[in-house]
Amino acid sequence: MSNHPLILVLNCGSSSLKGAVLDVVSGKVLLSCVAEKLGFADAFITFKADGDKHKVALGGDHSHTVAVEALMAELKVHHLHHKIAAVGHRVVHGGERFTHSTLIDDQVMRDIEACIVLAPLHNPAHILGIRAAQAVFADLPHVAVFDTAFHQTMPEQAYRYAVPTELYTQYGVRRYGMHGTSYRFVAQETARFLGRAETELALVIAHLGNGASITAVLNGQSRDTSMGLTPLEGLVMGTRSGDIDPSIFSFLQENANLDMAEITAMLNHKSGLLGLSDLSNDCRTLEEAAANGHKGALLALEVFAYRLAKYVAAMTVANGRLDALVFTGGIGENSTFVREKVLSHLAVLGLSIDHDANLAACFGRAGIISQPGKTPLALVIPTNEELMIAQDTAQLAGLSI
Ligand code: AMP
Repeated sequence: MSNHPLILVLNCGSSSLKGAVLDVVSGKVLLSCVAEKLGFADAFITFKADGDKHKVALGGDHSHTVAVEALMAELKVHHLHHKIAAVGHRVVHGGERFTHSTLIDDQVMRDIEACIVLAPLHNPAHILGIRAAQAVFADLPHVAVFDTAFHQTMPEQAYRYAVPTELYTQYGVRRYGMHGTSYRFVAQETARFLGRAETELALVIAHLGNGASITAVLNGQSRDTSMGLTPLEGLVMGTRSGDIDPSIFSFLQENANLDMAEITAMLNHKSGLLGLSDLSNDCRTLEEAAANGHKGALLALEVFAYRLAKYVAAMTVANGRLDALVFTGGIGENSTFVREKVLSHLAVLGLSIDHDANLAACFGRAGIISQPGKTPLALVIPTNEELMIAQDTAQLAGLSI
């Protein structure tokens, strides 16, 4: 085992906690865990290390703190606890306050709290997780890495909505974007893969997972992105509608007797691939069903790919030119079907597909999937948000690696 300092990366939800211990130099995950049902009597945590997986019930008050204490106990079993040098926390929303990752102090905690209004489901859970980790790993530096920070370079013409100015100045109603940590990692990796400088590349990166978004990255900086005030805007996603006519709210209130909360829940949890297919939010399931003649599944994938292709064109406008379209995330990295469909709409931008290369760039393998000699390039670059968080954490904690 290496003697490099290790970073613990934590990602807390309201009833969950995901953790990973990484060697920042090799990128290797030495131990990972997922705690579920936190706050409930049947809370448990699952650990994975050295190819072994086991589940432990979480007693006490079943809280995030109990989960972090169980993680500490497991680290001791593996003799890893004394090698952890810093803790990195994923934080979804940093508003306009955070343009970079930062060491956590009392003021940073107050600022993360101030962003709760923008991410009422996520930021309170992150605060719980940070406090729990600070109690258990009291002597270590803690770092916050924000999903929104990378997009703070967007120009005002990209982040403002065409609504009365006071909605922005008083309530912070603007586009913030998400998945920033993934975009930063993938932009760096793309430059490395191509042997070029990030500062000379115009990239459009599509992060396609259960949540999906797309970003214009020019010279290493975000110029525009598809998610907005919340993650609901933009592409078709697993269960989210993405862009809709905002009048659908009043239309459904009047005609379907639904209230705001019901409509919001429907657009977030019952729409997207799931809503269109009436079958599943899972791309793999839909591909199989479409191959077996399920019309809804095929339609869902077609709408997904068509919306995405339109956004590739929009993001190309944001950059002013296009060197490469990059696919990442669970769907982007694995679905040869979706990539092929998206690229079939994009010959207009000069994009192309090499079918064999498309089949080869799967399951964690990076690759160029456009035809040899043709530009713009189309690529697959696997993302690694945990490694990006660990790298930021090591750097801000002043670790020499
Ligand atoms: P993520 O949220 O990044 O984990 O991505 C989840 C999505 O990736 C789900 O819709 C999965 O169906 C999709 N996915 C994972 N593996 C494959 C695959 N081999 N083919 C198609 N879709 C996949």
